[in-house]
Formats: sequence, structure tokens, C-alpha cells
Amino acid sequence: MNKDKITVVLASNNMHKAEEIKNILGDCYIVKTLKEAGLENFDIIEDGETFEENAAKKAIEVYKKTGIPTIADDSGLCIDYLNGKPGVHTARFAGENATDDENINKLLSELDGVEFNNRKAHFICVIAFVDSDNIHEIKYFRGECSGYILTEKHGEKGFGYDPVFYYPEFKCSLAEVPEDKKNEISHRAMALKKFHMKQNIII
Ligand code: IMP
Repeated sequence: MNKDKITVVLASNNMHKAEEIKNILGDCYIVKTLKEAGLENFDIIEDGETFEENAAKKAIEVYKKTGIPTIADDSGLCIDYLNGKPGVHTARFAGENATDDENINKLLSELDGVEFNNRKAHFICVIAFVDSDNIHEIKYFRGECSGYILTEKHGEKGFGYDPVFYYPEFKCSLAEVPEDKKNEISHRAMALKKFHMKQNIII
């Protein structure tokens, strides 16, 4: 029954994310994609300096258009050795419209010669939730998934930087495990679980 479920819009056109988010939140929420909310061609430029800024910007824009409570996420990869880079520039690390392979190659060249223990990496996901016009009432939820950057690609599954992201508990890269296994530990799953439990961070 949908009677007691809360409807939220997901400020994303990414069907992969939408599926993951619907799976995790589906018992309590009806999650509508932008298309399902009537905003099929809505594109928001991610030009913030933090994951929180980008996520909030997307959520605010969509809430203004729909009047429906909105969640938006922003994610990326932060490498300790590179002082947190590429961070909010993860998707375009090797330049605007860079492919996953180009981004991975750029990352591997920046870490060339760096020993395994110094290749510590963190996938970060921040979810912003907006359900009022008051920007002070935006709630943020942060998830993290930590591992190490390999020296070459392993595995064919997943997307983005998964083939070079070694996850110690799995003893392999995130591109070598089935999607449902990755989704149990992913940065997005962690942030979504906090959203579900209303464990927002204060910024
Ligand atoms: P977005 O802004 O959340 O779409 O993500 C920014 C970039 O981070 C993506 O283009 C991916 O390259 C990378 N990224 C985010 N999440 C993951 C993941 O789970 N695996 C691999 N790469 C990811």
C-alpha cells in the first residue's frame, strides 16, 4: 500500500542511481525521478566547491519547480595523497566530457610510483533534502566508502572509478563484485541509510 508513503522527487536523470535509491527507500517513500515529476530535460550545473553545495543547489532548484520534497545527491572520489582531489571535480577530472577511462588514466598517472599504503581513497556521497523554502532547513546526509587505488584496472562491472577502487573487505575492486553486493557498502547506500534514519549532519 502507498497510502502512508511520503512522495519525494530525486533530482537526477541517472536511472542507475534512481533504481538504487528506490530499492533502499521504497518501503517508506515513493521516489519519483525528474521525468516522473514532469521535469525530463531539467539540467543543473554542478559548480559548487563542496558536495553539500552541489547537492543543495540541485535539490533547491527541483523543489522550487515541483513543490514536492526533493532529495539530490552529489558524489565523488577523494584521494588522501592528492589532498582530497579530485573531489567535486571527479566526473571531469581529465576535462569536460571526459570518459571513465580518461579519468582513470589521469588518476593513475597522478599516483604513478606511489606505494599502496599511500593510495588511500574515499568515495563520498552527500544527499541534500529540501522540503521548505527556508534554505536553513536543508538537511544533509553523508556517506563514505574507503579503499585504495590500484595501479591498473580490475573487473568489468560497475561504473566510473570502480575498476581501480580496491575495497579491502571484499579483497578485490568494486568492478569485480555484483551490483547488489557493492550497493550494500557504497557511499550512496550509506548516505541513504542515514537519510532513512534521519541522521543528518550539521554544517
Ligand atoms: P555524480 O556527481 O554523483 O554523478 O558522480 C561524480 C563522479 O563520481 C561520477 O562521474 C563517477 O565517475 C564518480 N562516482 C560516483 N559514484 C561512483 C561509484 O559508485 N563508483 C565509481 N565511480 C563513482
